[in-house]
Amino acid sequence: MSLSHEIMKNICGYSRAKYSTWFYYRPDHILFDVGEGISLALRNMIYGIDRIFISHNHGDHIGGLPGFIKSRASSMGDITKPLTIYYPKGDTYILQFKDYLDLSIPKLPFVLTWQGISPGDQVQLHANRFVEAFASDHMGTLSLGYKIIEVRKRLKAEHQGLPQNDLITIIKEQGREAIHEEYQKNLLVYSGDTMPLDTSIVQKAEVLLHDATFVLENDREEKTHATIQEACQLAIEAEVASLALFHFSSRYSHQQVKDKIQQMITENNIQFPIHYIYPHFYPADFKQIYVESQKGEKKENNDQS
Ligand SMILES: [Zn+2]
Ligand SMILES: [Zn+2]
Repeated sequence: MSLSHEIMKNICGYSRAKYSTWFYYRPDHILFDVGEGISLALRNMIYGIDRIFISHNHGDHIGGLPGFIKSRASSMGDITKPLTIYYPKGDTYILQFKDYLDLSIPKLPFVLTWQGISPGDQVQLHANRFVEAFASDHMGTLSLGYKIIEVRKRLKAEHQGLPQNDLITIIKEQGREAIHEEYQKNLLVYSGDTMPLDTSIVQKAEVLLHDATFVLENDREEKTHATIQEACQLAIEAEVASLALFHFSSRYSHQQVKDKIQQMITENNIQFPIHYIYPHFYPADFKQIYVESQKGEKKENNDQS
């Protein structure tokens, strides 16, 4: 199984423009945004979440927070497990929301930490993995996206192609570090609500989770959300391994969304899988993950036959 497939398998969530958006990435115990309905969908799995990264203050991205905190303080599970919420630094709406939560849910059994975060700030997850915030293009300076980055090692360019014996000699003389260099790999990029991100942010991501509110560009009145076409073009330019589209406007039928994605695949000869969450499929059971893969599904079907 490819790395991008593995990452997609471990993402669950829901998204519908103006209603709710949240994504849970299980391996790192991270929640990106916390829209309405999250506690109902995740049930006891809310205890798996250690950190919440909020992209911006719109209600469809933070509306699930009161229920989430209340459930985590009183359901069957480890109610003492600490939780950290990262939010765009200086956002007064979110700070007022925090005040409301402090007043309405006093005496939490767990330590709740609120941490303002700015573009470029990093949050360490493990020794070689961290989350980095970046500015998105949605509502000015207070709108963020996040990416999970892994620090990896590779052979330095000048040593590539050298015979094994030469490499061993260099290691003996100068140490192992002499032939290796560290580089950063974008594992998962979560765009939040945004116009198409800059290619440099997304470069070679395993999974790009991108706003695709509009099927038709003419439906867009303000430049605050991306179209399916823009998200696909970005994914092509950034050479991502997999694209996942979310935040569709509920005005579109499932067929319209599918047709547009298929059109993009055909016109651009796209070879990577495109996943999407269609908003009218609301999860009645969390086991059903409403992420579909056009090419992935076909491939899996072929594999079985
Ligand atoms: Zn939104
Ligand atoms: Zn928004």
